[in-house]
Amino acid sequence: MSDFTIQKDSDGVAIITWDVAGKSMNVLSEDGIRQLDGLIDDALGDDSVKGIVITSGKPDFAAGMDLNVLGSMKESGGAEAIFALVMQLHGVLRKIERAGMDPKTLKGGKPIAAALPGTALGIGLEIPLATHRIFAADNPKAKIGLPEIQVGIFPGAGGTTRLVRKLGVMGAAPLLLEGKLNDPKKAKAAGVIDEVVDDPVAAARDWVLNAKDADIVKPWDAKGYKMPGGEPFHPAGFMTFVGANAMVMGRTMGVYPAARALLSAVYEGAMVPFDQALKIEARWFTNVLMNPSSGAMIRSLFINKEALEKGANRPDVPDQKVRKLGILGAGMMGAGIAYVSAMAGIEVVLIDAQQDAADRGKAHSADLLDKAISRKKSTEAKKTEVLDRITATTDYDALAGCDLIVEAVFEDPAVKAEVTAKAEAVIGADAIFATNTSTLPISDLARASQRPEQFIGIHFFSPVDKMLLVEIIRGKQTGDRAVAKALDFVRQIRKTPIVVNDARFFYANRCIIPYLNEGMRMLAEGVSPVLIENAARMMGMPLGPLQLVDETSIDLGVRIAKATRAAMGDSYPDGAVDDVLFWMADEGRMGRKAKAGFYAYDEAGKRQGLWPGLAERFPQADPQPDLTEVQHRLMFAQTLEAVRALQEGVLLDIREGDVGAILGWGFAPWTGGPFSWLDMLGAARAVEICDRLTKAHGPRFAAPDLLREMADTDQTFYGRFGAGKKAA
Ligand code: NAD
Repeated sequence: MSDFTIQKDSDGVAIITWDVAGKSMNVLSEDGIRQLDGLIDDALGDDSVKGIVITSGKPDFAAGMDLNVLGSMKESGGAEAIFALVMQLHGVLRKIERAGMDPKTLKGGKPIAAALPGTALGIGLEIPLATHRIFAADNPKAKIGLPEIQVGIFPGAGGTTRLVRKLGVMGAAPLLLEGKLNDPKKAKAAGVIDEVVDDPVAAARDWVLNAKDADIVKPWDAKGYKMPGGEPFHPAGFMTFVGANAMVMGRTMGVYPAARALLSAVYEGAMVPFDQALKIEARWFTNVLMNPSSGAMIRSLFINKEALEKGANRPDVPDQKVRKLGILGAGMMGAGIAYVSAMAGIEVVLIDAQQDAADRGKAHSADLLDKAISRKKSTEAKKTEVLDRITATTDYDALAGCDLIVEAVFEDPAVKAEVTAKAEAVIGADAIFATNTSTLPISDLARASQRPEQFIGIHFFSPVDKMLLVEIIRGKQTGDRAVAKALDFVRQIRKTPIVVNDARFFYANRCIIPYLNEGMRMLAEGVSPVLIENAARMMGMPLGPLQLVDETSIDLGVRIAKATRAAMGDSYPDGAVDDVLFWMADEGRMGRKAKAGFYAYDEAGKRQGLWPGLAERFPQADPQPDLTEVQHRLMFAQTLEAVRALQEGVLLDIREGDVGAILGWGFAPWTGGPFSWLDMLGAARAVEICDRLTKAHGPRFAAPDLLREMADTDQTFYGRFGAGKKAA
């Protein structure tokens, strides 16, 4: 089946239509590149063709390159194969751009336009950027942009070089460095596309029939071209590059190979002619693809994330889509869950003990929608529609007809048991009951239920509207239909699910707590808090451990520490951490919400520097440990816990372990997650580091048996447990 087809009309317009069979979105494959090349040759060589329109047979234009192709090409052919493929692609796109014109006189080319019915991402925008004019449908849902940086690569099919030459470094920077996507109108305002129209194919057809020679010469192919904002050696351009470099390094701490390579491609490319710049872009692109970070990021943040969202671990039971959702407890979490569910079109009954609490919970949705309206991201009509779906009440009878309940009342087993019984008295026999508890075992809470096989954990993260991960927890008796229901619900609200077994703190919190604890432990030992926080950030963690404790609050830490100590008794290992936590609580420094924590905050709650009081209470040791030592402690604290979760059967799929770590607690995304990171290090090297850390800091760093066995037998996690190979 052809991905691209051509139709030549009697008025002299050739329409090339991209429509990959069996896919909802077009993606470009190796074969697709060859087909496009062949059709462009055909149209350029056919005297009856006056102009060419490239469009899509689907509601969207294209989602980008087929990233699986890049992955397998890297495996089979390495750098040479990737470079050759990219140069081949440059050849095709350059052919479109020059359109058969005489390179000296710039005359005689055929106009080529792109007509985008909807979303155009990655190479789906790089192809249009090579045409002479881009028309997009007036479709506010369409997304236009170059999001490559978000999966650890950068636009390598000329998008980088063309956008910088079109918009200048300042104009192109947010689009390239942040992967910012725009709707068609904003994309036009940013200068990325040319026209927003009702019928892009008709408008493009009209344009190619009327375009003059001068209309199809790209500025960089015309004489006297100057880059907007100046080249790097121009004084203004020089300042831009210095600023861009500083901004990127400040934001990424230099840990993302793609961001650095992108800047190099832009800088070096800006100093040479266009075709040379494309070659430089191709070299840097190849360099980034060969870096293990990009492969791991693509695997976790694109391929596996999507696989999990599509139900990779969904039991084989019929569709369990939620029609009517009951939420018990309209506090911070319940209110957030009500909002995301109503936004997804689900009817919601939001229950609290008091009517004013239920109303406050509903008002949270109104607040978020008001903010969205003020940012022009929503409308009054949409607000009314969403709020109309939420019934805020104290009346449990309103739960009649709910097919899923999510309980989010106080973290108290007695309160949870009471509301479970009350809800089950009203809901239908096949409804599923989920708890949002973060610390209580699901199997224990299920004892309050008459139908433990229909009882499950659906653990959201705060703030619910922003956090992308949802952890689904199977209790001992939870049945497959409950798991399917939870997965179908998470899919409806467009979040990413992982499914884990029931154990203390499930997966995400289990791994993040040791990270926070290791930070506080080092503080107690006299390690400079500046070193602790910077070491974490320089490893790619979005927040240092002390800042993260401030965000989640000291009192939550104290509550968790007390509960853990009560549960573990004498074997409780974190006394040193509690000294820090409890002292902070005594000082009344409860974290950001109290405008006082490990950091100082101003009146408006804006974070200032680290609180000077820390230096008095925890005098700094001399000498200080080196940076790598601190980084190893912080990273292994989390990573070993992830391995233990796998070893103990809490985690069943390393893909979930990696995706969940990045989305759930921000585990250094450049690594692709803890298992990908261990694979980069190699099990043998990881065990060596564990042995050293154990000797210096204690048994919490002891290498789990699984890791040691993998080191002995020279295995990798993805080799042993990768796609399709479940851990259990
Ligand atoms: P919250 O204190 O903000 O909200 C709890 C709500 O439950 C309150 O509005 C309270 O009035 C209501 N409630 C109490 N007893 C009730 C009853 N008998 N009937 C009806 N409503 C009742 O707490 P929260 O932070 O939203 O946490 C709720 C649950 O979510 C807890 O189990 C918590 O462990 C879990 N959780 C919290 C977070 C977080 O970051 N806060 C994250 C994940 C999970």
